[in-house]
Amino acid sequence: MQKYDYLIVGSGLFGAAFAYFAKRKGKRCLVIDKRPHLGGNVYCEQIEGINVHKYGAHIFHTNNKKVWDFVNSIVPFNRYTNSPVANYKGKLYNLPFNMNTFYQMWGVRTPDEAKAKIEEQKAEALAKMKAEGAAEPRNLEEQAKLLIGNDIYETLIKGYTEKQWGRKCTELPAFIIKRLPVRFVFDNNYFNDSYQGIPIGGYNRLIDGLLDGVETKVDTDFFASYRDTWRSVADKLVYTGAIDEYFGFSLGKLDWRTVSFKTRIEDMPNFQGNAVVNYTEREVPYTRVIEHKHFEMFGQAVYDCPRTVISEEYSAEYKEGMEPYYPVNDDRNNSLADAYRALAQKDTDVIFGGRLGQYKYYDMAPVIEQVMTMWGMI
Ligand SMILES: Cc1cc2nc3c(=O)[nH]c(=O)nc-3n(C[C@H](O)[C@H](O)[C@H](O)COP(=O)(O)OP(=O)(O)OC[C@H]3O[C@@H](n4cnc5c(N)ncnc54)[C@H](O)[C@@H]3O)c2cc1C
Repeated sequence: MQKYDYLIVGSGLFGAAFAYFAKRKGKRCLVIDKRPHLGGNVYCEQIEGINVHKYGAHIFHTNNKKVWDFVNSIVPFNRYTNSPVANYKGKLYNLPFNMNTFYQMWGVRTPDEAKAKIEEQKAEALAKMKAEGAAEPRNLEEQAKLLIGNDIYETLIKGYTEKQWGRKCTELPAFIIKRLPVRFVFDNNYFNDSYQGIPIGGYNRLIDGLLDGVETKVDTDFFASYRDTWRSVADKLVYTGAIDEYFGFSLGKLDWRTVSFKTRIEDMPNFQGNAVVNYTEREVPYTRVIEHKHFEMFGQAVYDCPRTVISEEYSAEYKEGMEPYYPVNDDRNNSLADAYRALAQKDTDVIFGGRLGQYKYYDMAPVIEQVMTMWGMI
C-alpha cells in the first residue's frame, strides 16, 4: 500500500480545499508547495499588524450559499464590501459606474438625467463612426464610446485600459469590451453577489483551517523532488502547477499576464481612506493603490493601528521567472491549452486543478465550488 492516497502539488485554495475534503473521507494526503509558505496566491504577510495581500488584493464573493457557508465554517468572514474609487487627475469618482459617478462627472441628480447624458454621448460616438464610413467599431476606443459615451471613456476607462494592456485603446480590438455595466442607483458595491467579505484574521486562517491535520511540505518543487517518483509515494496526483510545465513544455509555452507590486509602509494610520483606489490617467504609471488595512479594519480600528501598508500595482509583461497570474485569452494560447488539456485527460491518475493546472482564470469561490462538487458536497 502506498503511503498516501493523494500527493497534492500546490497549497493554494484548490490544493488546500481538496486536501480538506479528502481528509474528511479518510484519505491520506501530502501537500507540497515550492514557495516557502502555504496558501498560494491568497497568502498574506503580516506587516505592522496588517495582513498584506502579497500576491494581489483578494476579495471573496459568491452567490453560492453552500460555498459561503462552507468557507465561513472554516473561519468567519467579515462584512468588507468592495467599493473602489477612481482617481483621475486628482478628482475622485465612485466605481462601478453608478449614480454617484454620474453626479461627480456631470452634476446630474436623477436617473433620467444620467440616462439622457449617456444616450446623447453614445449617439455622438455612433454618428462620428458612421461619418467616417465605419459600420462596426474598429477598435476598443470606438466600442467603449458606443457603449458609454466620451466622458466616462476618457476619464475612467482609457488610461487604465492602456496601462493594463500596454497598448493604446485605438490599437486594441473592440471585442475586449463586450458590455460596460451601468447602474442608475446610488450603489458603490462593486459586486452583484449576495455574499462577500474577507476571512476575519486573514486568508492564512482559511488555509490553516483547510490544511489542519494534513501533512505539508513547503520549499518543495514537484519537478525537483517527486516528478519521477510520485507513483511510489501516492496512488493519485493532484497537480495545481502550470499545465505546460507538467508536460515539459512539449507542445510549446503558454503565455501569462502578470502584475508587479511596490509595497511600502506609510507612517500614518490612514493613507487613502479606502482599500482600493484606481488611477485612471495614463501618466500615473501604476493602475491601482491598495491600502491593505481597510480589508479588515473598520472604524476606530483603523486608527488603533498607527501605520499603514500600501501597494502600488503595475501591469507588467510576463517574463520567465515572474509570477504567472492570468491566462492569456487569445487564439494561440486557447488552442495550445486545449492541446495540453487533451494530453491531461489521458492520464487518469492525475487531477489537474486550479488556475495554473487548467489554464483558466477562476475567482476563489468557483475554485472552492469545483472541489466541493468533486467530493459530492454540492
Ligand atoms: C492578482 C490576482 C488577484 C485576484 N483577486 C481575486 C479576488 O479579488 N477575488 C477572487 O475571488 N479571486 C481573485 N483571484 C483569483 C484567485 O487567486 C484564485 O482563484 C486562486 O488563487 C486559485 O487557487 P489555485 O490553488 O488554483 O492557485 P494558486 O493560489 O496559484 O496556487 C497554486 C500553488 O501551486 C504551487 N506550485 C506551482 N507549481 C508548483 C510546483 N512545480 N511544485 C510545487 N508547488 C507548485 C504555487 O507555488 C502555488 O502556491 C485573483 C488572482 C490574481 C492573480
